[in-house]
Amino acid sequence: MKIFTNSLVLKEYLQTVSLKIGFVPTMGALHEGHLSLIKKAKEENDFVVVSIFVNPTQFLKGEDLDAYPKKDAADKKICELAGVDVLFLPNAESIYGSDEVSLQAPHVRGYVLEGRSRPGHFSGVLTVVMKLLNIVNPHKAYFGKKDAQQLHLITLMVKNLFMSVAIVPVDTVRESDGLAMSSRNVYLSTKEHEEALKISKSLKIATQLVMQKNFTSNEIKKAMRETLTPLEVSYVEILNRDFELLEVVELGNTIILVEVLVGSTRLLDNLWL
Ligand code: AMP
Repeated sequence: MKIFTNSLVLKEYLQTVSLKIGFVPTMGALHEGHLSLIKKAKEENDFVVVSIFVNPTQFLKGEDLDAYPKKDAADKKICELAGVDVLFLPNAESIYGSDEVSLQAPHVRGYVLEGRSRPGHFSGVLTVVMKLLNIVNPHKAYFGKKDAQQLHLITLMVKNLFMSVAIVPVDTVRESDGLAMSSRNVYLSTKEHEEALKISKSLKIATQLVMQKNFTSNEIKKAMRETLTPLEVSYVEILNRDFELLEVVELGNTIILVEVLVGSTRLLDNLWL
């Protein structure tokens, strides 16, 4: 496995690679969720690039940029064992200059749900993903369905800006108790982890109600909020795959999204039906 830290050196190197390149951008502290993206990239491509970059522009003031979990040595080992060909570990200076051109998330879909509690977050995400895609120039790039709004906006960016990369969605990997894996789960105490299980439980209840067929979206959301009590709920929403509100679940075209605060940790989860 080759390791690069400089964007232009990596870009130049990858221009000499005439294989089908799969790309997995991450912020590190790798877990089984990241690994499933890497595995899919390995299956579908001849050459796999993973980046680890804790992108400062997607963190708002007061968020956990400086505290974000770092596991550099373990991450390298995981990538090596997973058969990654190139690991890209840029520092902020290698990605950003000053007084730069940047991307603006769409005014509606970038500022609802997670974008409402984190205004500007998705502009930072889109800007860094665009930069990384331009450095690596992959055939396919892999993103988790767990971050459904992020996945939606990246897919929209690729469409709106006529880019040629294929964005591949990957299913959410969960702990055996149902909690969606996340690098931020390390912030949870044992008690908070226990409380956080209400999130996947609320999605299970939503599934049961959907299967019974005669419940509106509002009734399903109400039942989910009851299950989530007493956690602080940022939102529970039922949308179609274009991120528009749905009054009635349409099987094959629905995402049920939840965001809650457990202690001071923001946790996201969702269900694709
Ligand atoms: P992050 O390092 O949290 O920025 O995540 C990097 C990529 O891994 C993103 O595309 C995430 O959506 C994806 N990801 C994070 N957690 C999971 C999970 N539990 N299952 C599947 N993909 C995930």
